Amino acid sequence: MKALQYRIVGAEPEVTEVPTPEPGPGQVRLKVTAAGACHSDSWLMGLPAEAVDAFGLPLTLGHEGAGIVDKVGDGVVGVRVGDSVAVYGPWGCGYCYNCSLGKENYCENAAELGIRPPGLGAPGAMAEYLIVDDSRHLVPLGDLDPVQNVALTDAGLTPYHAIKGSLDRLAPGSTAVVIGAGGLGHVAIQILRAITAARVIALDLAPDKLELAKHVGAHEVFLSDAGAADNVRSVAPRGVDAVFDFVAIQPTIDLGQAILRGEGHQVLVGVGAGTANVGMTATPYDSSIRGPYWGSRSELFEVLELARRGLVTVETEVFSLDDAPEAYRRLHDGTLRGRAVVVP
Ligand code: NAD
Ligand code: ZN
Ligand code: ZN
Repeated sequence: MKALQYRIVGAEPEVTEVPTPEPGPGQVRLKVTAAGACHSDSWLMGLPAEAVDAFGLPLTLGHEGAGIVDKVGDGVVGVRVGDSVAVYGPWGCGYCYNCSLGKENYCENAAELGIRPPGLGAPGAMAEYLIVDDSRHLVPLGDLDPVQNVALTDAGLTPYHAIKGSLDRLAPGSTAVVIGAGGLGHVAIQILRAITAARVIALDLAPDKLELAKHVGAHEVFLSDAGAADNVRSVAPRGVDAVFDFVAIQPTIDLGQAILRGEGHQVLVGVGAGTANVGMTATPYDSSIRGPYWGSRSELFEVLELARRGLVTVETEVFSLDDAPEAYRRLHDGTLRGRAVVVP
């Protein structure tokens, strides 16, 4: 089968021929219907060789996946051949306390056991077929279009989890800031509008991204430049209740600190290498800083429900598997609108 693999450190990913995998006992094989391209893939492909070792090259990319159940291994129960499913990506051990709550994103044993998400260690969804280790990692898509909704498995689930952790800050009358209206950020704006009454301010670098942010529901948009803090304060003079930072480089973290209100939440979702100064006099009273990772399995059901109700729509640009390297070029250059989705 064809697969998009990151093969050589520092080089572009390549479409290559690999053996079609067979599902072992307990495993499910999907015929992939769609796979999303995330900035975390670009981040991984920018790491030095020592750091990439942990992901194991060659690596088939794609940690946002959807497919049709095509073949099941011995002992698989719950799913049936022909089911249209989304893949819950942060695989855990299924055995620890966090996994018992469906929070496999915070599995206590995954690292020690060498369990890696598809596309981030295990072979990913940018291929004709994907092996999923356990049927519990599958969530029914039903009538939802896989191409339009595959990105919800990460670009939806991650902001949903981040926002849910700050819901108590987002009462009517509150203000939320989204920094970075890309794949995750443009979905975050819609989730904020769907599940809170907060006023939503979006910041990005380019007018076209701000236009997208407005289009998906931001009340105010500003360029993320030296005037951004003043601009935010012009509409939220007491500061903002929550900042969801989908970039998290030093300038955006500093900006978040400059606009946060007492008891506010600064939520660092982006994998930028910035750090925050925390201290009694460095931060507004009783504010918190969090760095959430992905989301729980039940939260994925909830995000898909938002899509089913028409409250969240992912802006997608569709690429064939042969054109997937171009999707990553566009992601790297910041010229995508919303999410790039690869259809094998
Ligand atoms: P993306 O490239 O689609 O979007 C990033 C957006 O940020 C773009 O619109 C870009 O113009 C904007 N941006 C860049 N610099 C900016 C700045 N200084 N100020 C304001 N906006 C700026 O990326 P994505 O796929 O949405 O991912 C966003 C981040 O989240 C990445 O760092 C990714 O690795 C990370 N991520 C984290 C998790 C997690 O679990 N914590 C999950 C998925 C992705
Ligand atoms: Zn991702
Ligand atoms: Zn676990």
